[in-house]
Amino acid sequence: MNSTARNDAKLALRIIPREQHTISRKNISKAALRVLYRLNEAGYNAYLVGGAVRDLLLGGHPKDFDVATDATPDEVKKLFRNCRLIGRRFRLAHVVYGSEIIEVATFRGASEDEGDRHIVDGRIVRDNVWGTIEEDALRRDFRVNAMYYDISDFSVRDYVGGIKDLQDRALHLIGDPATRYREDPVRMLRAVRLAAKLDFRIDASASTPFAELGPLLSGVAPARLFDESLKMFLSGHGLKSFRMLEQSGLLKFMFPATARALKRGDEALRSLIEQGLANTDDRVADGKSVTPAFLFAVLLWGEVRDLAHTWISHGKDANEAWSRAAMHVVAEQCQRVAIPRRFTITMEEIWSLQPRFEHVQRKKVFRLLAHPRFRAAFDFLLLREAESPAIGELGRWWAHAQQLPHETLASALPQHQAGGPGDIEPVRSGATRKRKRRRKSSAGKSGAA
Ligand code: ATP
Ligand code: MG
Repeated sequence: MNSTARNDAKLALRIIPREQHTISRKNISKAALRVLYRLNEAGYNAYLVGGAVRDLLLGGHPKDFDVATDATPDEVKKLFRNCRLIGRRFRLAHVVYGSEIIEVATFRGASEDEGDRHIVDGRIVRDNVWGTIEEDALRRDFRVNAMYYDISDFSVRDYVGGIKDLQDRALHLIGDPATRYREDPVRMLRAVRLAAKLDFRIDASASTPFAELGPLLSGVAPARLFDESLKMFLSGHGLKSFRMLEQSGLLKFMFPATARALKRGDEALRSLIEQGLANTDDRVADGKSVTPAFLFAVLLWGEVRDLAHTWISHGKDANEAWSRAAMHVVAEQCQRVAIPRRFTITMEEIWSLQPRFEHVQRKKVFRLLAHPRFRAAFDFLLLREAESPAIGELGRWWAHAQQLPHETLASALPQHQAGGPGDIEPVRSGATRKRKRRRKSSAGKSGAA
């Protein structure tokens, strides 16, 4: 049905010979080169394609290498012992070298009403039609993602003007934007993510349909949106992705609670989220680990906190209010983005530990320091400095408390808390020990890990 609109995209092949582009085999993974050469030696056409070619031309280091070929998946399988076929919607070969997986895809066809392709409400639900390289180029999303590096002569084949877009630093869809988004609404998120990652602009032709077609994201499988949200927020350009997602009006379709809280004008929440994402980007840049649980805890915090406070002010027990608020927000969120249970458990812990930071009575302090989720909850508390100077003060108190030897901390803490956290005596190392506790504990250490 939509094939005519999509294939309106002009095919104008431009071949850039080896000496006129900057892609060097040095920057292509050994595994990818082996796959390309083996296919080529067996008489098939074999190309590096997609994000890898784009990133290499931009001087970057691709994190994955995809290969496109005219060999069918079964033919690919015959060539590689270390190969498995995957995918139901579209059969792909995965060639495995140690921890590296090279995805080898047979050229896909463009025909909408032949063979094995099915369109439901404008969306592709299954397409197993092999095609030519030209057809394969046309079904890709953005023009910069449809360039092929030819292993037979090291040239780059540009079918739809990707090179020009790279120079202009602009994202254009291939074909009619509305049609392409209807086929696969995730392309809207990919536009935002790639613009953030590459520091490109989204051409107006590609961003204008967001307003009308954004709601189609509600129909996308929540598991796929989870994968996409990790790529957006945990790949080193989370802050920028978040800002662009909000500006583009698409945030509310992925994170409705976050969008609502921000719309209420919660500027403290905005800086908390931005700081959380900036810290995550720094960790990625430093090669440190990052967890989706912390990220989602940050994004959803505003709504959880406001709900819990409302229920508490209506007389609900505080513990119950917090756990109900967490459950409520998580349940709503998982209808959009399927956050796996192992992460939602951690998120709920991070949130429910927040009020416990206000209790600086001796026993409670040591219990909290020994909690397996203390570190994450403490990092979260530090972000909450954006909420009020008092929370900033509390964060510094806990930062300092962790540095102290157990005995020193114990002696500086009251056995019973007199008032709110504002009444806490500042903890000083070398504080006079009024009372010595003999109980051995490693709590102080575990917190500072
Ligand atoms: P990244 O840097 O995140 O890997 P990428 O462009 O390589 O970006 P992938 O998800 O690895 O993204 O996809 C590889 C290629 O497959 C893309 O460059 C594009 O050509 C094509 N592609 C991916 N997703 C879609 C889609 N939803 N619709 C059309 N083509 C797509
Ligand atoms: Mg890729």
